[in-house]
Amino acid sequence: MRVLVGGWSLLTGLGLSRFGRLRFEPAEEARFIQDGKAARQTHFLISGVFSLVAFNLFLLSDWMMVPDRFDLALRLRLLVYTPVAVFFLAVSWRFRDFALQLPAAVTEWVAMLGGIFAALCLVAVLMVTDSPYAVMYRGGLLPILVFGTLVMRFRFQLAVVFCISLVALHLLTVFASQGAPTPFPELEVPMFLLLVVVAFYTLAMNFRTEAEERLRFQRKERSAALRRELQASQARLETLSRQDALTGVPNRRRFDEVAWQCWQRHMQTGEQLAVMLLDVDHFKAFNDHHGHPAGDQCLKLVAKALQDTLADGDGTLARWGGEEFIVLLPHTDEVVAHRVADRLVQSVRAMQLRHEASPTREVVTISAGVALGRPSMDGRDLSAMVALADRALYQAKHEGRDRLVMDRTPKPA
Ligand code: GH3
Ligand code: MG
Ligand code: MG
Repeated sequence: MRVLVGGWSLLTGLGLSRFGRLRFEPAEEARFIQDGKAARQTHFLISGVFSLVAFNLFLLSDWMMVPDRFDLALRLRLLVYTPVAVFFLAVSWRFRDFALQLPAAVTEWVAMLGGIFAALCLVAVLMVTDSPYAVMYRGGLLPILVFGTLVMRFRFQLAVVFCISLVALHLLTVFASQGAPTPFPELEVPMFLLLVVVAFYTLAMNFRTEAEERLRFQRKERSAALRRELQASQARLETLSRQDALTGVPNRRRFDEVAWQCWQRHMQTGEQLAVMLLDVDHFKAFNDHHGHPAGDQCLKLVAKALQDTLADGDGTLARWGGEEFIVLLPHTDEVVAHRVADRLVQSVRAMQLRHEASPTREVVTISAGVALGRPSMDGRDLSAMVALADRALYQAKHEGRDRLVMDRTPKPA
């Protein structure tokens, strides 16, 4: 029982209970695999080259421990394993883009089978050698096991398959050599235990490494999603802060920005621009008669009619406040400004929205005041032009509403 508790706390310490199973739900799993694919392929290639060098270094052990079969070991390492490994490494390097298209499991399995192939070379020698050191020579499976689980870092499930295969191969050589004379029979069990325990420890490390890799991936995905959400809500806020909440047209703040830029451009080109103030006629009476919600609806429709009318030009419409709108018409002259303002006034009248409390018309109408100016010469600023447009608007109201009035104030010398 104490062993069980101890074993469980060791596993807990290694992160088993914290990370649970080493698998995400399918869509996330696919993203995880895809995300690490290229890096893993490079990692396998580099580790593969090192493994090949290390594998051939063990020729020294062959020479010292299994001298009777050194020729076989030499051929297996240099003439069988090395060319096959070089072939696979070269092909996966030369065609790495193609290899990336293959399912990730293919690369993982090829790497794992490479490890088993290396172990088989050792096994082949062990099966036929009469060396008294054969029992120690089996220890050559250890570096192969550690290399696969910790250096190559096979995915956990494959690492388990790999370790079980190596342990099975170890046992196979033990049983195959039954009866052969050995001066160290008492080493047989410790060598086996060594392999099993190292397999267990390295598998635990392998599990933990993969679990952490998955955790890092989840954190990365979460922070990317948060960043995207933040950017989207910033963009939404940005739009909202420049939009009139009721009508959806630009608000005064946005208008000020556009107008300032437009004004600067006109300072350079010397062209004229027009400012128009548009005001819904008898709107207080509309609200009083039809109710405030109907008034809101009316303002939305008016804003839409104005915007649609301006849609094919480069005028900017904004809600100036209350039931007033403003239009900035760049590089224009009196004829064009008059025509546009006239179309705006007509567009509202054409909607034929009933206004039962209006003393002037039976439908909702607007009045417009238009001021023209040339920023480079007139010495006026934008607020002065708005004031002139407002004066013209006042005159339009005075003259009976549902009309436009052009400002005729003499330009300053
Ligand atoms: P005039 O023809 O001279 O412009 O008369 P008016 O009644 O339109 O002018 P006044 O300035 O007296 O009234 C404007 C009204 O617009 C008063 C206010 O309640 C209403 N109003 C302002 N903003 C809104 C809004 O967002 N929704 C609604 N429903 N009414 C609004
Ligand atoms: Mg008003
Ligand atoms: Mg009004």
